[in-house]
Amino acid sequence: MYTLYMNAQLLRSSWVEIDLSAIEDNVRYFSATSGVVVMAVVKANAYGHGSLPVVETALRAGASWCGVARADEALELRSDGIKCPILVLGFTPISMTEQLISANISMAGWDIEHLKSVAVIAQRLGQPARVHLKVDTGMGRIGVSDQVALDIASYLVGTQGLLFEGLSTHYARAYEADIAPTLDQEHYFRNVVALLTDAGLCPSLVHASNSAAAMVRPDSCWDMIRLGIAMYGLDPSEDCKCREDLRPALTWKSQLSQVKHVPKGTGISYGHDYVTNGPEIIGTVSTGYADGYRRHGDKIVLIGGRRVPVVGRVCMDQFMVRLDSVPDAVVGDEVVLIGHQGQGHISAEEVAVRWNTINYDVVSSIGSRVSRTYI
Ligand SMILES: *Cc1c(COP(=O)(O)O)cnc(C)c1O
Repeated sequence: MYTLYMNAQLLRSSWVEIDLSAIEDNVRYFSATSGVVVMAVVKANAYGHGSLPVVETALRAGASWCGVARADEALELRSDGIKCPILVLGFTPISMTEQLISANISMAGWDIEHLKSVAVIAQRLGQPARVHLKVDTGMGRIGVSDQVALDIASYLVGTQGLLFEGLSTHYARAYEADIAPTLDQEHYFRNVVALLTDAGLCPSLVHASNSAAAMVRPDSCWDMIRLGIAMYGLDPSEDCKCREDLRPALTWKSQLSQVKHVPKGTGISYGHDYVTNGPEIIGTVSTGYADGYRRHGDKIVLIGGRRVPVVGRVCMDQFMVRLDSVPDAVVGDEVVLIGHQGQGHISAEEVAVRWNTINYDVVSSIGSRVSRTYI
């Protein structure tokens, strides 16, 4: 190990390794258990995992749709050669509509005035705008009530240029231990589906389930699940954990760029918030808050398979660790921020608790300058 890293050219700063076989297995699992179409949700650079390799893997494993949050994420996938149906789950500015229609990308819709503008653009292009009508069944975010849904559905069906492709909703509390709020939303949505079906207006693709709902309500997935966090092998919540056989795909690594023995009373990092209690071994890691490694919260990393504390303030590009428990650590030793090393393990969920946030936030905040490698 030491001799290998004597070659300074081999040192790297900060990178993530994505185990695509984990994503493949996770998608296969949900595809088999739900028995419905799987949409791979790859917004925010596939929750930090890198969109294109994740999409290619998910499609190979049986997913047939992709879901993104923004129009530009969808267009990027198209320009990278992804041919499958893509849905923009969030808001699409009118200025992006023409590009979306031309690239055959579907969009969420809920506002009649907005849809009228979309129709005008579609008619001019002579190509249909594919719309998934969003129903607000209790998320309080985007979407319409049952009666408005009926009105918009008839507008969508009766208007040239608009293709009423899907009907959807989103759960606010499916990851909680109590499923009552989810059942309420499900009940409301079921009624909307019935209302539209009775009026002869129901589109071919009805979808509601995120990862948590696909796990807790596997028999109520309608035609498609929108699989996000669990595809990456991460838990929707503490109360809604993935099965043991679903594996996390992401490991975040760095290397020791310096190791030094310092005397008692040495201040470490900005502000000297940490001062050594005795002679200590301090290591420097080249990852910082600009890589998405937060300043706040107690932090632990793995070195030599051991849990090692982060000491002093996290800087923009670097932080320091105390190496007493791994006294033979040398420059070049691998540092694991998230993942396994030897007998040690730090999950994205543990990091989230330390940072007072959720695992979604931890992985999707890993910075763009952190290189992604695929295994
Ligand atoms: C992000 C998102 C999902 C995926 O949610 P997970 O909890 O990650 O499975 C599904 N649907 C919509 C509308 C989303 O925005």
